[in-house]
Amino acid sequence: MTQQEPLYRPRSAFNLLQTPLIGRVLRWRWGRLVLQTPFFVAAVLLLIDGFTGPTNPARNLATVAPWVHYRGLVIIALLLAGNLFCMACPFTLTRTLAKRLSRSGRRFPRVLRNKWLAIGGLFLMFFLYEWLDLWASPALTAWVIVAYFLASFLLELIFTQSAFCKYVCPLGTFNFVYATVAPTQIAVKDATVCATCVGKECVNGSYAPRMTIRIDDIPVAGGTIQKEIVHGPKGTLGCGTELFAPQMSSNLDCTLCLDCVRACPHENIGWFVRQPGRELNRAGAWLQRWDVSLLVIALAFMGISNAFGMVGPGYDVLNWLQHDIGIQSEALALLVMFGVANLLLPVVTSLGAAFASQLLTKNGRQYSLRQTVAAFAPAFVPLGAGIWFAHYSFHFLIAPLTIIPVIQEFVGQRGDWTHFSAAVPADIIALMQVIALVGGFGWSIVIAQKAALRLYKRDGLFGLLPWALLLLLMMLVAIQIFGMPMEMRGTDFMVS
Ligand code: SF4
Ligand code: SF4
Repeated sequence: MTQQEPLYRPRSAFNLLQTPLIGRVLRWRWGRLVLQTPFFVAAVLLLIDGFTGPTNPARNLATVAPWVHYRGLVIIALLLAGNLFCMACPFTLTRTLAKRLSRSGRRFPRVLRNKWLAIGGLFLMFFLYEWLDLWASPALTAWVIVAYFLASFLLELIFTQSAFCKYVCPLGTFNFVYATVAPTQIAVKDATVCATCVGKECVNGSYAPRMTIRIDDIPVAGGTIQKEIVHGPKGTLGCGTELFAPQMSSNLDCTLCLDCVRACPHENIGWFVRQPGRELNRAGAWLQRWDVSLLVIALAFMGISNAFGMVGPGYDVLNWLQHDIGIQSEALALLVMFGVANLLLPVVTSLGAAFASQLLTKNGRQYSLRQTVAAFAPAFVPLGAGIWFAHYSFHFLIAPLTIIPVIQEFVGQRGDWTHFSAAVPADIIALMQVIALVGGFGWSIVIAQKAALRLYKRDGLFGLLPWALLLLLMMLVAIQIFGMPMEMRGTDFMVS
C-alpha cells in the first residue's frame, strides 16, 4: 500500500467484524478453524458414544446432543444472529485439505446446480428420521455423522465449488432458508471498489500453490494508487457456494464461512447488522425458480408434518395406511404419508393459490404461475420459522440441561439426573409456541401483502386472499398439533 489512510469508508451500519476481539478472531486466517475445532471434537465424542455407549437414547451423547440440543439451539441462533452453525460446521473442516488433494477441478453437473437435490435430501432426512427412529438409535445417528463427513469430503475433492453445502446438505439447506430472517448479512462496504477490483478474490480466492504478486491500479479520489496483491499457499479459497459479495441480496446459500472476508485484498467486506428478514420484502432477492420457491414452501409444510409424526393422529394415519389401506410395509406407508404432506401438498396448494390469485385479479394473468409462486414464496419463511421454533424449542426446553448428566456418564461419573432434569414449565413453553406461530403468521401476512400490492396494485387484497387463507390454515393446523400430547424423543416421557 502506498497510502496510510483507509481507502474506503465502511457503511454506517454496524459491522460485526469490527467488534474488538470477536471481529479480529473471525477475520483471522485461522478464525473459522477456531470455531470448527470444538464442534469437530464434539462430533468425535458423539461418534465414540454412539458406537460404544449406552443404547438408551436419553443417556447417549449421540442422540441427546443432536436431536434435543443442537436443533433447538440452531433455530434460536438463526433467528437471533444468523447462520452460526454453518460458520462452525465441522463437516467442512477438511475443505482445504480436499481442495489441495483435488486435481480434477470439475464443476458440479449443471443439471444438479439447483435446489432439487436439497429438497430431496431434506425429504430423505425426515423420512429416515421417522422410519429408522434415528432419535432412538445412537449407533444409527453416529453412522449419519460418518456419512456427513464422507459426503462433504468427497464432494469437495471431486468438484471445484462446495457442492455439498450448496446443493446437497439438508442441515445447511435448512439453515440457508431460515437465515433469511436473520438480523445480519454479509455485504460489501463500498460497491465502487468492487467495480474496479481486478481479481474478484472474494469469489475466486487468494489461494495459489505458488506465490504470485500482482500490482493493481486502484482508483481513488483524485487519481489512482497502486496496491500489491499477493496470492499464495497462505491465501484463502474463494466463496465455496459461489456467491459474489457485491451482488449478494440474500443470506440464502451463505455459510458465513467468511472466506470472502479473508480473501478480499481491499478489506471491503463486512458482516453487517440489518433489519431482520429484509430480503423477504424485496422483489428479486431470490431467483424466480421453481426449485427455490418450492424449497421454501415445502420446508414450512415439513415443519408441520414433522410435528404431526409425533402426535397421536400421526400414528393413527400410519395405522390407517397400514391396516385399512393395506400398505403393509411401514417404510412405504411413511413414504406415502410424507410424500403427500411434504411434497404433494406444498405443490398443489401453492399452485392452487397462484391460480386463484390469477383468477381474482385483473392483471394476474400477466404473471406466470412460476412468477406468482416465486413472489409469494418468501412469505412462507416467517411462518415456517415459527413452526420449527415451536417444535425444536419445545424438545430443547423440556430437557435443557440433561446434556450435563449425559456428559457426566460419558466420562465415567454418576449422572446427576435429579438436579439437571428440570423442565421449563409447560405453560411457558406453550405460550412461546403460540407467540412463535401467531407472530410468524403475522409477519408472513405482511410479506404476502407487500407481494400482492407489488403484483396486483389496487387488486392486491384479492390477490392476497388465497395466500392468506393458506397461511392461516397452516398456522391453525400447527397450533392444533402443538396443543396435543407429543412424544418426547431423546427423553423418556410424553408431554401434554
Ligand atoms: S468484495 Fe473485495 S474481492 Fe470481491 S469484488 Fe469487491 S473488492 Fe474485489
Ligand atoms: S465466502 Fe460465500 S458463503 Fe462464505 S461468508 Fe462469504 S458469501 Fe458467505
